[in-house]
Amino acid sequence: MEKFEINILGCGSALPTLRHQATSQVVNIREKLFMIDCGEGTQVQLRRSRLKFTRLNNIFISHLHGDHCFGLIGLISTFGMLERTADLHIYSHPDLEELLTPQLNFFCKGMHYKVIFHPINPKEQNVIYEDRSVSIETIPLQHRMPTCGFLFREKPTPNHIKRDMIDFYRIPLWMINRIKNGEDFILEDGTTVPNERLTTPSDPPRTYAYCSDTAYMPRITEQIKGVDLLFHEATFDESELPRAKQTQHSTAKQAAQIALHAQAKQLLIGHFSARYEDENILLQEAKAVFPQTFLAKENMIFKL
Ligand SMILES: [Zn+2]
Ligand SMILES: [Zn+2]
Repeated sequence: MEKFEINILGCGSALPTLRHQATSQVVNIREKLFMIDCGEGTQVQLRRSRLKFTRLNNIFISHLHGDHCFGLIGLISTFGMLERTADLHIYSHPDLEELLTPQLNFFCKGMHYKVIFHPINPKEQNVIYEDRSVSIETIPLQHRMPTCGFLFREKPTPNHIKRDMIDFYRIPLWMINRIKNGEDFILEDGTTVPNERLTTPSDPPRTYAYCSDTAYMPRITEQIKGVDLLFHEATFDESELPRAKQTQHSTAKQAAQIALHAQAKQLLIGHFSARYEDENILLQEAKAVFPQTFLAKENMIFKL
């Protein structure tokens, strides 16, 4: 199977603690890296992860709270020192460009690469990125400022061609890719060998949804139906429900309800409040509703 991995760089919330880093993740799809959020200290965590800086060309920012974007200017400046030349694309609410441009002009003069901002509308569900392997769409969320999540949809890979069929029918090299992409094979006497006989189906395409920060939003379950992995914030436990409502965050139980209604295969919870010395209380609460729940942790790699 092709690589599809979620690297957790940070899964804390706004207040710094010694236990967690500020929010950031890197999604690795076939060795192409996509960063989601970039809290303070992300570049150090990226170093620690041993992911290749040069493979990161796209950064997606869910919203403009500091714990999701304070790490950007440091990361951009470091890439400059490393003599990066490839464009760096940043997808976010349009305010980010206005906020970062004066800092880029001051701190990042003379860099050999361009930072290209792509404004997104967090209130709408749109495809904002697409290439041969993946499409990425916004998931409108509910928070104290415009916020969206991101849904990664892997594109189907070609079918596998059966080795013994290549030999048996003496299939020429130039036909192999066409057969992998669904064509039948015609023999010299005009007989058609149907594609199903020559190939086995490829692995089903996988999906990953990132939802942070957000109040409880049952509406998103339609968009993320059947997702292979849902990352959902679980800032609080149920005893803090009033605080969750007030700050427009979710409890662990609510995160699990979203996973359950969306028929997600697995749930990863994170964005933990600094008040928890031990997040097992959040894990147990979520598992009671949705057993396939896991706690996010710094430097964890979640394979799909
Ligand atoms: Zn946050
Ligand atoms: Zn926030």
